[in-house]
Amino acid sequence: MDETVGSKANFVKEIIDEHLKAGRFGTCKVRTRFPPEPNGYLHIGHAKSICLNFGLAAEYGGLCNLRFDDTNPETEEVEYVDSIKEDVRWLGFDWEDREFFASDYYETLYEYAIELIRKGKAYVCDLTVDQVREYRGTINRPGKESPWRNRTVEENLDLFKRMRDGEFPDGSRTLRARIDMTHPNLLLRDPLMFRIRRETHYRRGDAWCIYPTYDWAHGQCDSIEGITHSICTLEFEVHRPLYDWFLDQLGIHHPQQIEFARLNVSHTVLSKRKLLELVEQGFVSGWDDPRMPTISGLRRRGYTPESIRAFCDLIGVARANSIVDAGVLDNCLRGELNRTAPRAMAVLRPLKVVVLNYPPDKVEEFDVMINPEDLSLGTRKVPFSRELFIEREDFMEDPPKKFYRLAPGREVRLRSAYFIKCEEVVKDPATGEIVELRCTFDPATRGGDSPDGRKVKSTLHWVSAAHAVEAEVRLHETLFTVRDPGDVPEGVDYKTNLNPGSLEVLKGCRMEPGLKDAKPGSRHQFERLGYFFADPLDSAPGNLVFNRTVTLRDEWVKLSRSGKTGE
Ligand code: ATP
Ligand code: MG
Repeated sequence: MDETVGSKANFVKEIIDEHLKAGRFGTCKVRTRFPPEPNGYLHIGHAKSICLNFGLAAEYGGLCNLRFDDTNPETEEVEYVDSIKEDVRWLGFDWEDREFFASDYYETLYEYAIELIRKGKAYVCDLTVDQVREYRGTINRPGKESPWRNRTVEENLDLFKRMRDGEFPDGSRTLRARIDMTHPNLLLRDPLMFRIRRETHYRRGDAWCIYPTYDWAHGQCDSIEGITHSICTLEFEVHRPLYDWFLDQLGIHHPQQIEFARLNVSHTVLSKRKLLELVEQGFVSGWDDPRMPTISGLRRRGYTPESIRAFCDLIGVARANSIVDAGVLDNCLRGELNRTAPRAMAVLRPLKVVVLNYPPDKVEEFDVMINPEDLSLGTRKVPFSRELFIEREDFMEDPPKKFYRLAPGREVRLRSAYFIKCEEVVKDPATGEIVELRCTFDPATRGGDSPDGRKVKSTLHWVSAAHAVEAEVRLHETLFTVRDPGDVPEGVDYKTNLNPGSLEVLKGCRMEPGLKDAKPGSRHQFERLGYFFADPLDSAPGNLVFNRTVTLRDEWVKLSRSGKTGE
């Protein structure tokens, strides 16, 4: 486990510390839970909640449960359960044998409801959903009591049992808590506890035709599992009085609900409903599309569990909502990959270079460091020959003042190889497109060192044409063009903010031959270009596919430097 998770002070820990000091939970150890609803794949926001809940449990020597909060049969599926487990495990957390399902507690929730009916605290109501809403009132208008509110306990017990036995049509009756129709908090105006719904549940099948609401299920599930601290996002703060009310009425173990600000990340959306829509309508290739903010998308793009945990630790836990810049996560990854990713040279948009004075049949092999950050890894062999490829954007025929890379008559360094000088530009006579550069090299600069202190302003990456392996490279940009894509006026679809250029696929990229056997799922730094990940599904030896995970620097830095230093 990452020892940094949860190591910082935060308000949640202050609350827990107080409870421990006051003995609020007796000798119970800290118990937290991560309670996803299996109606979609997990996203980076969930990662924050996972790191927080598992991190706190670890830090306090307690335990964290994984609980599937599966009370809505319409949208829940086994596929989602499986993906959630895979993602939590991949992030580096272990729930051991503590895998629970709210749907396993339906019987208990039913029994608890009977107990509330017996206490006169719940009743069967025959109002329709629309009527319930109408009777609820508003913040400025008190609610009206349901005409069914004063049924006898016997009648309620009888009707509730018959609801459960399937005697009544969907939506015809509900079980409601009997609290206060004039309560200033609308959630306490006789909230629903059970609805009749004939839906097949992915785990319980047709065993149940009544389903508990979130508010009725959540606190009781926490209590059943002996949770001490039930941590959720800020929008549940207004639910806390109801959470407490149910537990107080039942007189059972009473966890403390604590709310924190949900994570928002710039240029993306973190709502399962919206992410599902992007998947279903084909705006992305799936939940694991490398542009998605899902854990599976980040994994496929090449992010590491360590970087996501470091990110969650860095952003911390607060009570004020904010948007975290997407670049913050990238920065968490760069440091790690700089230390761990082997270097390679790859040319994404190849431009052919012929070295006129280099013998046609000669091949030299240069020893180049695998990772200058870790000298123990030693060197790799990189072949050099008369025909090479360089990056198209590293040459300009008519360079502006601050372009220091290759240009006619100019000398540059080919990394770890030689200085070359551009003598001639060859163009396609029909299109005028530059198809080849004719250059000369200086044998005295072998290894890329200048013998006479001669300076060149730029160092380029390159590959030997005859030795290079071909590959496909997928460049990903943010999925949305604006910082807060969900923030749209009434009637405007957030999808209008989608970035049409979020995926660029480059075929025919040329890479140094050592990448020939790059394993699917391996990470590499392509010099000067960024960190790349051999796609775990689509890449194979002979058919290499790399995703760019991140550029080497923050995009804005790169922009401000582009063409200026050549590095
Ligand atoms: P969505 O709004 O995307 O449907 P949700 O909150 O309904 O998300 P759940 O599966 O219920 O999704 O979430 C499981 C846990 O993860 C909850 O405790 C929830 O508070 C937390 N969580 C969800 N989204 C975020 C987020 N953006 N930041 C932090 N925690 C989150
Ligand atoms: Mg939820």
